[in-house]
Amino acid sequence: MDYKSSSKDLDIDDVKEGISLQLITYLSAFMESFKEGKIKPAGVMYFNLADKFTKISNLTLSKDKMVNETIKNLRMKGIFLKDMKILEIMDKNIENEDRLINVSARTAKSDKPSKSLLTEEEFDKICVDIKEILGSIGKEMITYGKTEIKPNKKTEPCKYCKYLSICRKNNMC
Ligand code: SF4
Repeated sequence: MDYKSSSKDLDIDDVKEGISLQLITYLSAFMESFKEGKIKPAGVMYFNLADKFTKISNLTLSKDKMVNETIKNLRMKGIFLKDMKILEIMDKNIENEDRLINVSARTAKSDKPSKSLLTEEEFDKICVDIKEILGSIGKEMITYGKTEIKPNKKTEPCKYCKYLSICRKNNMC
């Protein structure tokens, strides 16, 4: 789990494309460092630390609904193991609207594929893929000195970058 001051979601497609590597890198490193037998990854998620107050327009709702609205805003977003037993341990309210993880029991029980749920094998594969991506980035940097400036256009990082005024690549985003 990582904490963010702004809302951040984790998209499995971004992970596969090598754009969002942070959480899977942590998970992969942790699993590798764990020497006492094989462990299951329960999930990777972001917790938003920003104050998420209920909107004024929601003040007409009942107290329970307001609490649920607030909890919904605070839900942890990420990718979870498709295993109801583990999900129930992670969030005892998984069956309810006041759950704190952003995946519902209905989705977890369904046979339909979901971008927020992976099997153990899929988690293992994604960890192996990420290691390959990191290895090739490291090799390119160390062996060939390749440190290409390649901002991810999808998230427009240049727009908020404090180096924008001096960056020669600032026309890329
Ligand atoms: S302005 Fe330059 S340094 Fe900043 S994100 Fe864009 S390319 Fe990177």
